[in-house]
Amino acid sequence: MKIWLDGGLQDIESARVSVLDHGLTVGDGVFETVKAVDGRPFALTRHLDRLARSAGGLGLPEPDLDEVRRACAAVVEANPMPLGRLRITYTGGVSPLGSDRGEHGPTLVVALGESPRRPDSTAVITVPWTRNERGALTGLKTTSYAENVVALARAREQGASEALFANTVGQLCEGTGSNVFVVVDGELHTPPIASGCLAGITRALTVAWTGAKETDLPLDVLERAEEVFLTSTLRDVQAVHRVDSRELPGARGPVTAKAMRIFDERAGNDLDP
Ligand code: PLP
Repeated sequence: MKIWLDGGLQDIESARVSVLDHGLTVGDGVFETVKAVDGRPFALTRHLDRLARSAGGLGLPEPDLDEVRRACAAVVEANPMPLGRLRITYTGGVSPLGSDRGEHGPTLVVALGESPRRPDSTAVITVPWTRNERGALTGLKTTSYAENVVALARAREQGASEALFANTVGQLCEGTGSNVFVVVDGELHTPPIASGCLAGITRALTVAWTGAKETDLPLDVLERAEEVFLTSTLRDVQAVHRVDSRELPGARGPVTAKAMRIFDERAGNDLDP
């Protein structure tokens, strides 16, 4: 397996990042996960835009997006696989302990892993912890994912694959690594970006392609929604068949099935929508 580090391809076994990298010591890094279908990255332009926005929000130096593109192309070429997940990580770089970051410039790593096909439907739980819709990091895709790791572990304990958060005012927000859509009275809704959710790329495409409304929704909408689905780079559109202990009669109901079909068709026809 080859990865990109320090401006070129390296063997993953011998590639090394300093133990004093700020991404490790304080977690100030940003990342993207990009689907690669038959060696072709999907929606790369949108991912690079978000990487640059996240880096800017964290005060990191502007990433060289041409290098990131070259790195993605080189890594998928060096590691052929039918369905992969590119992981782009960009951190503050190496700095002596106690000093500000960036003394030696940022670190860019691009790696690739297999992306197993997700099941068409899944179970989710809600968690009592909140997303902060007005935090310094709100909306940035940073490597500070520990809260998501904890919530996802809780989901796994309960036989679910995702945990959904409300924000601090009790509105439905997002999952640990996905956005959420609900069908109420036959209409498709998703929380607005102001809820504190990440501006998911799959979410944006789904809103554009299905006409879903961006609506403030109380968390308990999940107790009465006719259908619920998740969106993310690795899930695409994935139906939800259970929320906490509630089985959804409408899992893969008509609205979800239509969203899945539209997404597959449109995404299949345009690699960089
Ligand atoms: N929300 C969070 C917190 C995420 O980490 C992700 C993706 O990793 C998403 C939503 C979905 O975003 P995308 O569709 O761009 O993968």
